[in-house]
This record gives sequence, C-alpha cells and structure tokens, in this order.
Amino acid sequence: MAAAERLVVIGGDAAGMSAASQARRLKGPDELEIVAFERGHFTSYSACGIPYWVGGAVTERDELIARTPEEHRARDIDLRIRTEVTEIDVAGGRVRSRDLESGGESWTGFDKLVVATGARPVRPPLPGIDAPGMHGVQTSTTARP
Ligand SMILES: Cc1cc2nc3c(=O)[nH]c(=O)nc-3n(C[C@H](O)[C@H](O)[C@H](O)COP(=O)(O)OP(=O)(O)OC[C@H]3O[C@@H](n4cnc5c(N)ncnc54)[C@H](O)[C@@H]3O)c2cc1C
Repeated sequence: MAAAERLVVIGGDAAGMSAASQARRLKGPDELEIVAFERGHFTSYSACGIPYWVGGAVTERDELIARTPEEHRARDIDLRIRTEVTEIDVAGGRVRSRDLESGGESWTGFDKLVVATGARPVRPPLPGIDAPGMHGVQTSTTARP
C-alpha cells in the first residue's frame, strides 16, 4: 500500500539527510514515503574533513562518511545518488531529476519538499585565483585531487 504522503529531499549531506532522518523518526513508511536525491556519490559526509583527506591526515575517504546511502535505505529512505534535481514545479508539486549515469529523466511528485542543496562558496578576486591547479573544496569526490 502506498504511503499517505511523500517527502522529497534535494541534497544528501548534512541538512538534507538530517531532515530525512528526523522525518523518518517521526513517521513510519506507511505514513510517509521519503525520496532523497543526491547528485554526488556520497551521503552524510563531513565536508569539514575534506581538507584533512586532501592533505593526507585522514587516509581513507570513507572515514568522512557518517552514513552511507545503504544505511539510509535500510531506514526506509529511498536514496537516489548520482541523481540531480534539475527543476522544481512548485504548482504541480513535483521535481524533475536526471540520472547522471544513464542520462534518463523523470518526474517525482511530492507533498512536502526540503531543498538542502548547500551554498556556493565565494571566490575572492585574488590574483591567480583561477590559475590551473586552484580548486575550491566543497563536496566530497571519488578521488583525492
Ligand atoms: C572545507 C570545509 C570545511 C568546513 N569546516 C567546518 C567546520 O569546521 N565547522 C562547521 O561547523 N562547518 C564547517 N564547514 C561547513 C559545513 O560542512 C556545511 O555547513 C555543511 O556541509 C552544510 O550542509 P548542507 O547539507 O547544508 O550543504 P552541503 O554539505 O553543501 O550539501 C549539499 C548537497 O546537495 C547536493 N546537491 C546540490 N544541488 C543538488 C541538486 N540539484 N540535485 C541533487 N543534489 C544536489 C550536493 O551534491 C551536496 O551533497 C566546512 C565546509 C567546508 C567545505
């Protein structure tokens, strides 16, 4: 039997998965379906720890991951990694998403929506800021730069 309501979460890191996890604590899967979209490979990772991984103080990237997609799924959260939300149709109560592996697109309806896509860091206008080898650090990646 389908759940009475569906919560859609965009963004699978701290804010998004905290919201999803708290919603699941409050309502079981019969009451609430939870679908979370994350365009990256990881969920619930420590962005704060990325510089320590880049620098080698943290040797294993997985040490930065507090909860994997599989662990979220085991708590009845339909977690879709490598899936980017490309459009929000507020009036229609649905989001359009693209599977970044296959390129396939689909719409998913929602009753409630959490947008937890983070922020874009400011790059100060310093000489050489766009030079080759200068990278911003924000989301976790599959390989150490
Ligand atoms: C290098 C660094 C060091 C930091 N150090 C500290 C610290 O010491 N102390 C502290 O308190 N905070 C620190 N922070 C800040 C902290 O990491 C952030 O406040 C926190 O990660 C914000 O969580 P968030 O879920 O709001 O956003 P994010 O962590 O940015 O997560 C947003 C997620 O949404 C996904 N996403 C974005 N758009 C889409 C889309 N259209 N479709 C699907 N998915 C999408 C992204 O891939 C990302 O995984 C640091 C951050 C960085 C980058």
